[in-house]
Amino acid sequence: WRTEHDGTTAARNDLYDYAASCVPNGACLLTELTARASSEALLHSILATVPDAMIVVDETGVIVSFSAAAEQLFGFNESEAVGQSVEILMPHPDRRQHGSYMHRYLTTGQKRIIGIGRITVGQRRDGSTFPMELAVGEARTAHSRVFTGFIRDLTRRQATEVRLEEMQAELAHASRVSAMGTMASSLAHELNQPLTAVANYVEAARDLLDVPNAENVAIVREALSDAAKQAVRAGQIVRRLRDFIARGDSEKRVENLRGLINEANALALIGVAELGIDVRLDIDDAISGVLVDKVQVQQVLVNLIRNAVEALTDAPTRRLTISAVPIADQMVQISVVDTGPGLDAEVERKLFRPFVSTKDAGMGLGLSICQTIIEAHNGTIWLDKPAEGGTAFRFTLAASDPEDGR
Ligand code: ADP
Repeated sequence: WRTEHDGTTAARNDLYDYAASCVPNGACLLTELTARASSEALLHSILATVPDAMIVVDETGVIVSFSAAAEQLFGFNESEAVGQSVEILMPHPDRRQHGSYMHRYLTTGQKRIIGIGRITVGQRRDGSTFPMELAVGEARTAHSRVFTGFIRDLTRRQATEVRLEEMQAELAHASRVSAMGTMASSLAHELNQPLTAVANYVEAARDLLDVPNAENVAIVREALSDAAKQAVRAGQIVRRLRDFIARGDSEKRVENLRGLINEANALALIGVAELGIDVRLDIDDAISGVLVDKVQVQQVLVNLIRNAVEALTDAPTRRLTISAVPIADQMVQISVVDTGPGLDAEVERKLFRPFVSTKDAGMGLGLSICQTIIEAHNGTIWLDKPAEGGTAFRFTLAASDPEDGR
């Protein structure tokens, strides 16, 4: 492109066609193009037609160009967006932190996102948020430097286009869920036996107590101890199921917590953008990494986030906050907090027990699986009831040794 189109002889149409053809995959090329396109009209025609939302910001984070696709995606007109800080397109806490990210890059040259791209959350004009894939490029012109951002709305993305990694996580989840279905029917059958036995022993004991003589009381004692044994057996059957679901091929590695949470969040939020949930991520910068089986921990997050989203469907305030802070003993505490109606009293009483659900199609296994996974990671998970209402689930994970880097 450089050799073919350098200089002023390049036909505008050629350049335009080229730009249009390379845009879907070529953020970097367009970055270069942005820098070189001295003609405003040319830039405008590109901005009007790039299929992905494209935003150009200057060194201070002020929007200088806003493509037609960006207008559609974010709900701002170009004229409204240009001149404003790019932070208007971000939910908290990214909004708060963006200035310091940029400052850090400009002063240290340390790249966190430029040229790398990542999955994150965007905010529309009406305050609703959505998962998006962001690729950022940098362009230097003679006088200044600009940053170009390409944004792809993940809510609209076809299932077949989902990034491989997300698919793997989802597949691992789906295959366990379907294996769970098979397990569940055999489980129902297996459980029936000890439960019927418990009922029989207890009923017999009750009848024997009509005549509470010494002989009968001895039999009652025996019947009750048999009933207890059967109940323990029923519990073991359920535990086996939970272990089976959680076990998988557990492989713990040092994982970047921010990336892990971002991906799980994007995965859990696919298709729910229209509910207009205000999603906030607040991950303490002091956390480097965690030592976990990524797919399993993402499964925990997806379960908790989906439960929260379902709880928020009819809530007057729809806010979901996912946060992570370092705590004592080299651990990290992660919270998923919603402003929904709070937990049903019966569910709360039997919290983390399997098959407890208030949903028509719910299996009531999500929280129980979350607990098994977190405990397999030597962490704990608990319910916290925020004073202002809603539900908070918190869990802990081992932070990776800082020596391991990341
Ligand atoms: P399921 O989602 O299949 O019902 P779970 O074990 O994940 O199974 O959840 C059990 C029950 O806990 C749900 O049916 C719901 O009643 C309740 N629950 C879980 N998370 C929340 C939440 N964030 N807000 C309100 N209720 C919740």
